[in-house]
Amino acid sequence: MQVAAETVVHLQSVHKRFGALHVLRGVSFSVTKGQVVAIIGKSGSGKSTALRCINRLESVDEGQIRVCGHQVHDAGLDKRALRRDVGIVFQSYNLFPHLTVLQNITLGPTSVKRMPAAQARELALDVLARVGLADKAGSYPEQLSGGQQQRVAIARSLAMQPQVMLFDEVTSSLDPELTGEVLKVMEKLAAEGMTMILVTHEMAFARNVADQVIFMHQGQVWEQGDPEILANPSTPELRQFVGNGL
Ligand code: ADP
Ligand code: MG
Repeated sequence: MQVAAETVVHLQSVHKRFGALHVLRGVSFSVTKGQVVAIIGKSGSGKSTALRCINRLESVDEGQIRVCGHQVHDAGLDKRALRRDVGIVFQSYNLFPHLTVLQNITLGPTSVKRMPAAQARELALDVLARVGLADKAGSYPEQLSGGQQQRVAIARSLAMQPQVMLFDEVTSSLDPELTGEVLKVMEKLAAEGMTMILVTHEMAFARNVADQVIFMHQGQVWEQGDPEILANPSTPELRQFVGNGL
């Protein structure tokens, strides 16, 4: 008998409005353990909002979101508990400039998880090695390139040992020559089995690394499937999007 893959993230008919602006219009999708899902779509289609709803940086108006057993739509949600399970990395790295790379990473585990300092340090060195920056523990953010800073931001998120990682256009502010090193780290995480949802403009990455691609248009999941949909879109909207994007 085949055992169904464990659903880690599930959105059901999610609606989100900002005032009169109806940004998410009945968004539903599921992500199973170890899956890599790429969300693509035009600017303003609701990609970031969908991601932000998943770790409750935004609340939803209608519908349900379940993440690692948390009822995210529930008014009584324990946000701290949710965010221990869900890491998020943004376009901007938001590292503390006055702290070393190591201190930036140990801050979460020691304060949020109350991990002993020595253990947090070991963990930080471990996650830094995973993003290829073991030698930068004592550096300050300003001494690093944008690509390195973004890898530190990913390491900081990994140090919280999340079940799911969300990435919102993490390479968009990087020069092209620094994009590759960040994508490589994400590809490695994917290969290690991390469950990931990423909003990206990197079509080659979506095609090569994602298990599922979600094309959002006007606040809806317009098209969804394996990366093959990028080569063979069913809708004129996706056809136009990949036509412009490739
Ligand atoms: P995307 O990430 O696909 O570019 P977003 O989810 O950021 O799209 O935004 C979708 C729409 O919602 C846009 O029109 C944007 O201006 C609007 N929006 C996003 N966040 C807010 C907010 N906090 N307040 C008001 N409008 C917002
Ligand atoms: Mg966005």
